[in-house]
Amino acid sequence: MGLIAEGLARVEQRIEQAAHRAGRSRGEITLIGVSKVFPAAAICEAYQAGLRHFGENYVQEFQAKRPELGDLPEATFHLIGHLQSNKARPAAELFDVIQTVDSERLAKRLDEAGRRLQVFVEVKLSPEEAKSGVSEQDLPRLLDAVRALGNLELRGLMVMPPWPENPEDSRPYFRKLRELAGRFGLAQLSMGMSGDFEVAIEEGATLIRVGTAIFGPRKKGPA
Ligand SMILES: *Cc1c(COP(=O)(O)O)cnc(C)c1O
Repeated sequence: MGLIAEGLARVEQRIEQAAHRAGRSRGEITLIGVSKVFPAAAICEAYQAGLRHFGENYVQEFQAKRPELGDLPEATFHLIGHLQSNKARPAAELFDVIQTVDSERLAKRLDEAGRRLQVFVEVKLSPEEAKSGVSEQDLPRLLDAVRALGNLELRGLMVMPPWPENPEDSRPYFRKLRELAGRFGLAQLSMGMSGDFEVAIEEGATLIRVGTAIFGPRKKGPA
């Protein structure tokens, strides 16, 4: 078994244990393998090992890798990194799911690209400057705007809490996201990464975004 298949098997085991502890069924949770920085070959290897959902952060990076992937039946590609409105069109062509909608302007641009897309609204729940996402205050208005756009199918909310020193640090953010999703009638919650996805599963995550624990450590760089 290759390193990626081993990583995937370990993550799978952790998901099953967390789901079991939380009294949830494994089938409610979609594992997204975050392949940013890794070459197309790593995506293919993970696909061969059974992974079907992939997350990428940068439009340009994935634009370069996509042709090398060839046809991967049933693979779903999620954009999980911040998206600028001027990249909306290529993003809409490359990805099936955009998890980082955080402004009306971006939502409109995605809609105008003319392809049917599943979208998540990214919520900013921490005061940290660098984090993208819509504020809780502006969330209702953005959700209304997204719901009015014919090509966008609003699935749920996404959050990226401050880097946790301890997995428990993320729990209040996950709990808050679940509360907001409940309040606005949204079924899907994208939350949890390599370091804290068990906590996210306990708090109701339906999609978890896991990079390092599957693909290994990333080289230092823009990621
Ligand atoms: C990189 C990234 C992840 C995966 O992080 P790991 O700690 O490697 O699992 C998940 N979500 C987002 C938005 C990311 O940018």
